[in-house]
Amino acid sequence: MTPKLIDKTNSLLNNAKNVIITSHKKPDGDAIGSSLALLLLLKKLNINSKVIVPNDYPNFLKWLPQQEEIIKYEDDKILGNQLINEADLIFSLDYNAFHRTGDMCDVLTHSNATKIMIDHHQSPDDYATVTYSDTSMSSTCEMIYNFIWKIGHIDLLDVDISTCIYTGIMTDTGSFRFRSTTSTTHQIISKLIDCGANNTKIHNSVYDTNSYNRLQLLATALTNLRVIAECNTAYITLSQRELNSFDYKKGDTEGVVNYALSLNNIVLAAIFIEDEKNNIIKISLRSKGNFSVNELSRAHFEGGGHTNAAGGKSEDNLDDTVKRFISILPLYKTALNNEI
Ligand code: 5GP
Ligand code: MN
Repeated sequence: MTPKLIDKTNSLLNNAKNVIITSHKKPDGDAIGSSLALLLLLKKLNINSKVIVPNDYPNFLKWLPQQEEIIKYEDDKILGNQLINEADLIFSLDYNAFHRTGDMCDVLTHSNATKIMIDHHQSPDDYATVTYSDTSMSSTCEMIYNFIWKIGHIDLLDVDISTCIYTGIMTDTGSFRFRSTTSTTHQIISKLIDCGANNTKIHNSVYDTNSYNRLQLLATALTNLRVIAECNTAYITLSQRELNSFDYKKGDTEGVVNYALSLNNIVLAAIFIEDEKNNIIKISLRSKGNFSVNELSRAHFEGGGHTNAAGGKSEDNLDDTVKRFISILPLYKTALNNEI
């Protein structure tokens, strides 16, 4: 952020009457962590603010400070529309195109509020008055830390704000192991711990909350794991029937795709999850090295994301989606083989 953009941001915040913080559909730790951290900061600055997310988020995030204040648009669209229409300042956190907010896309597109975007995904849309976009960042939460520092309020960092930021950095970096994790990320984490973020408690709260059903679902996913050795690819499928038989709850499939990526000699990993309600197959893609799943998803599965982590969808059935995935792999065989 240039000094001019920082001044602009501060004058927008000083004049804002109603601030709405938004994030993407299927909100993850980074989306919820960054939204709550900013909410807590703005409250300390006595700025009237609310968080609205498109839909529900996983139970393993339902302990975060003030998470009970989050408004889920899917629960009350009339209230959501009213709040968004009354807002004079809207934050886009952890997304950079309105279509990523699902059903909120329409009302956000037509809103006259000034927009501030803070995001680390590629190819941001051009709708915000202040765009703080940096694809080299580990997470939007790392950017929120920088944002708070840049606008001159790092002295307001407290236990709750630090806890939210820590959680988002931790979940988006696979607990500080992905390539996007830098020494600066660790320096920020160190400051967050100094401010009272309880690292052990945060890790336990997010990762050690498995239900028996979730582990049984994981067992099924691992049984369904297939390898296409010549393309250094592994994939997992989960049908709606399998999800139902283990009483699937939001968040239960989070991270399962990483088991496929953890196999020796695997560069590309995918999970295909049947979603009967929306009549789609939800796809998560992960990769190692320079192989871009963002590009693969944009080209074939109406999605996107980052180089090593992306999502997408397919309107074919589960079998046909997998067949299509296998059929496009030869296009990428050389690129995949080169990463080994
Ligand atoms: P996940 O596989 O965990 O759902 O998503 C991995 C990454 O890709 C996240 O950064 C997420 O924001 C992004 N992503 C997931 N689904 C989509 C999608 O449909 N479109 C785009 N542009 N990005 C996505
Ligand atoms: Mn993120």
